[in-house]
Amino acid sequence: MSDLPPDPCAAPAGPGEADCTMVLHQLWEYLDSELGPDKMQAVRTHLTLCTKCYPHYDFEKAFLEAIADCRCTTCAPNDVRCHVIEALRRVGFCPGEQAGVGNQ
Ligand SMILES: [Zn+2]
Repeated sequence: MSDLPPDPCAAPAGPGEADCTMVLHQLWEYLDSELGPDKMQAVRTHLTLCTKCYPHYDFEKAFLEAIADCRCTTCAPNDVRCHVIEALRRVGFCPGEQAGVGNQ
């Protein structure tokens, strides 16, 4: 049973509910350009057609831009870094060692 007739209840051509769910799930990855080229194109196309998803895209894009604007552009002073690293060491963190490559 590989070629079923088209479901008359299925969404008509154009953006449908399933597409919206898929797009909204992938929106953050889309904004970070982390999807493959095919998916990037599919989401981009959907957003140009779908008035329901576009506001989500617009909001999340503005949110990311606001965060980027707030991002600190200078590094912490070296003694602050040392304090942080020391505090992390005390709780068992070993900077420079990859997590998960345990040799205990
Ligand atoms: Zn949509």
